[in-house]
Amino acid sequence: MSVLVYTESENGKFKKNAFEVASYATEVAKQMGTTATAVSFNATDKESLGEYGVSKVINISDDTLSTFNAKAYANSIKQVVEKEDAKVIILSSSTDTKFLAPLLSGYLKAGYIPNVVAAPESTTPFVVKRTAFSNKGFALSEINTDIKIVGVSNNAFGIAENKIEASVEDFSASVSDADFGIKSIEIDKVVGKATIADADIVVSGGRGLKGPENWGLIEDLAEVLGAATACSKPVSDLGWRPHGEHVGQTGKPVASNLYIAIGISGAIQHLAGVSSSKVKVVINNDPEAPFFKAADYGIVGDAFEVVPQLTEKLKEFKAQNA
Ligand SMILES: Cc1cc2nc3c(=O)[nH]c(=O)nc-3n(C[C@H](O)[C@H](O)[C@H](O)COP(=O)(O)OP(=O)(O)OC[C@H]3O[C@@H](n4cnc5c(N)ncnc54)[C@H](O)[C@@H]3O)c2cc1C
Repeated sequence: MSVLVYTESENGKFKKNAFEVASYATEVAKQMGTTATAVSFNATDKESLGEYGVSKVINISDDTLSTFNAKAYANSIKQVVEKEDAKVIILSSSTDTKFLAPLLSGYLKAGYIPNVVAAPESTTPFVVKRTAFSNKGFALSEINTDIKIVGVSNNAFGIAENKIEASVEDFSASVSDADFGIKSIEIDKVVGKATIADADIVVSGGRGLKGPENWGLIEDLAEVLGAATACSKPVSDLGWRPHGEHVGQTGKPVASNLYIAIGISGAIQHLAGVSSSKVKVVINNDPEAPFFKAADYGIVGDAFEVVPQLTEKLKEFKAQNA
């Protein structure tokens, strides 16, 4: 019996959240007196997971699984779970796992808890702390099914180095046409230096920016900070920015160390997706904007005056400290 962790990769390279869930799985395995095994798809840097305490990496190398497909991935992971007799499955709370985890839960008749923010309180019974009420509170939840699935929030547990030698095993999963009933035919991917899921800093713009022609303000600030850019839902609905940048309840979740919201009112649906960010800075010209209540730091002012000054000051600071 081992703890199995699904480590996400893109173009063969593990995503940042893979190292966080690997660290988390190692901690759970330690608590349970067992080892952590990872399952990956078409990964190239498999041994690197040993840095985070994973003792075995099972890699499924299959061209038909080169892009994420919830059903085919869930079916493949199920086969690895059965082969390894895994009783606890760890995954990130990413956009992909929103689709994958419920399927896996159904296939394995396993209890699934997403948005977990800390190592288990106990493993017998299996109790974890997760966010609740759109990130406004926490809940302690117990999973009492034979197989348990835990979705870990990004940046909640962190990456912990725990170097060991990881063995690597190839596995051929059996997938059929029925697993590909739904296929991605086009992927609208944000092109930039940092992705929203992996970025430590996210700079996000709302309807207060007035139009797409003003997005240079957001991009300049993001560039100086090495941040990813994001936006509110209406901004992507209006076509000012690609849908891949929309964050919130119906968009991508953000759990960065710093989230800078510019010209965003702070509607509950927006806050639901960004409130896991550690520090929130709000720039808005309306002192009554609801976002200020959720902010750690706020600047009441016109974005068109405040943001260029902030960008210039940060550039000066970086030049002085280079
Ligand atoms: C089912 C459902 C799901 C939804 N999901 C999401 C979601 O996932 N993500 C999301 O973002 N929204 C979502 N929404 C929409 C949400 O309710 C809000 O309408 C939306 O977040 C508002 O976007 P905004 O803050 O950019 O625009 P607005 O509400 O129009 O706010 C613009 C803000 O900019 C400020 N402003 C104006 N000019 C300036 C200036 N010059 N300088 C500084 N500030 C300025 C204003 O004071 C205002 O606070 C959802 C809604 C529904 C019903």
